[in-house]
Amino acid sequence: MKPSIIALPLAILAGAGIGLALQDKVTYDDGPFLPGGKYRVHGERPRPAIVTPGLHGAPPSDAIVLFDGGDLSQWRGNQGDAAWKVSEGFMEVNRTGAIVTRQEFGDIQLHMEFATPGEVVGSSQGRGNSGVFFMGRYEIQVLDSFDNDSYPDGQCSAIYGQHPPLVNASRGPGQWQTYDIVFHAPRFEGEQLVSPARVTMFHNGVLVHDNVEIIGSTTHRKLAKYSPHGPRGPLQLQDHGNPTRYRNIWVRELGEGE
Ligand code: MG
Repeated sequence: MKPSIIALPLAILAGAGIGLALQDKVTYDDGPFLPGGKYRVHGERPRPAIVTPGLHGAPPSDAIVLFDGGDLSQWRGNQGDAAWKVSEGFMEVNRTGAIVTRQEFGDIQLHMEFATPGEVVGSSQGRGNSGVFFMGRYEIQVLDSFDNDSYPDGQCSAIYGQHPPLVNASRGPGQWQTYDIVFHAPRFEGEQLVSPARVTMFHNGVLVHDNVEIIGSTTHRKLAKYSPHGPRGPLQLQDHGNPTRYRNIWVRELGEGE
């Protein structure tokens, strides 16, 4: 029999239908077990939570917003309320001292944006110096490192006094820059350090720390070491006397996972 013009496309469609049926299958209960023996390859397991992402650094739906340009209600000063200047959607260091979050955190993802002063004053550590401290102890440096030499473990995005960034991804004075940081808190058992803090970080979208180990609490011209502390602590922004600006600060708390 001569195949009709219609028969061949129908056969192709039928074949595609079989493929689609297989692909429509949601989970497989006959695959080998993954390491740990709990779940099978492609098998049934809990679904990841649904998060609506933000565009261009905007907070995703499960973020804790610490500063959206409005006010400093999520922050306090070392004594009383935070007193940094807030205007036009950013906050600015004004020599009233460091500010810390009212909430305390352990393992987090942090997004923040900053701009070192547009008017360039000073050099090395005297130019656009500020910083973000995890758990009030571990500083990621904020500095104007655009055409401004200083000790590498103190330049912008360094883990201060410990690890220089992999590259210098700094933008110029007065330009907005981004930090995206994954911070894992250290673990202690009594006085004993069980696991150190770890940092993975992007500066303006460029990888600058790849799962780096923090060696202890930030210090100046000394070797950092750990002092035992609890599982949570505040984020702190440093007032180093230079009018650095911050905006769009949010965190996501990281669970222990499965
Ligand atoms: Mg600093």
